[in-house]
Amino acid sequence: MHFTDTVYRNPYWPTYPLLQITQGCTHNRCKFCTMYHNVKFRMQPMEWIEEDLQELAQQVPEAKTIQLLSADPLVLSYDKLAPVLEKINHYLPHMEQIYTQGRVSDLKNKTVEQLKNLKDMGMREVSLGVESGDDRTLKRIKKGYTSQDIIEQCAKLSEAGIDFWMTFLNGVAGKEGSKEHALKSAEIFSQCKPMLVGTGALVLFPGTPLLKDIERGEFTPLSEKEMLEELLLFVEHLHCDCNFITHHTVSGANLTGPDFLKRKKRIIQALRAEIKHGNMAQYAAIRSYKQSL
Ligand code: SF4
Repeated sequence: MHFTDTVYRNPYWPTYPLLQITQGCTHNRCKFCTMYHNVKFRMQPMEWIEEDLQELAQQVPEAKTIQLLSADPLVLSYDKLAPVLEKINHYLPHMEQIYTQGRVSDLKNKTVEQLKNLKDMGMREVSLGVESGDDRTLKRIKKGYTSQDIIEQCAKLSEAGIDFWMTFLNGVAGKEGSKEHALKSAEIFSQCKPMLVGTGALVLFPGTPLLKDIERGEFTPLSEKEMLEELLLFVEHLHCDCNFITHHTVSGANLTGPDFLKRKKRIIQALRAEIKHGNMAQYAAIRSYKQSL
């Protein structure tokens, strides 16, 4: 298999088989991310993709799912993505579900009709690293799109019948923008009606441009308690019927599961208890050990 440079796979999707079709990230500018700093974006050569599929056809001829890598394979134009999906179906004829991930802006180069075709070829679920629905936050972290883009592009996915995930990045607005980040994200995410909302929590890895903002006094990180308070505010105002998962790196509360609206009260109670009784020093220590996203 041709796995090159850094690759990210979604741990909540089946993690085998995986197929890398792009390298790096087209954007590579988000202020909290260093993952692809030394990797230039490009599509994997089609010969590599085909060779990998031939290998998978030997190893897992009955495969029904596959996850496409790396940062944003979704950015490929329809004319590049469709032939890849055709090859997947050719070599793995039992394929039912092709998972892929990307940025909100990756959808701009595709029409609803094209998305419908991709769905017919198996692309039924997409994960979008949205991070925030608040325009000020999106601008400050250099995410490269606006809340209006989020609404418009997610509407295209809905119209095409493709399920999608939206992620909320807890803590990324710092103390300066925490409240707006939580409230506006809850509003925009609710409006988009994703099948799943996932929340992760900010870790300031070495080399992260946000660290420079801290030195300049332009960004004040949230404490562990403030991080949980922000998550609580987001949850309180989120009102879409979705699955909800959290990889808040430290919370002991079990917040993950389907039927968010049915569980919302319990999630809120769990977060409140965590804010009151959680061991914040221990949480901070655990976070400091994290090496990568
Ligand atoms: S967070 Fe995602 S879109 Fe932003 S630079 Fe990192 S990989 Fe690229």
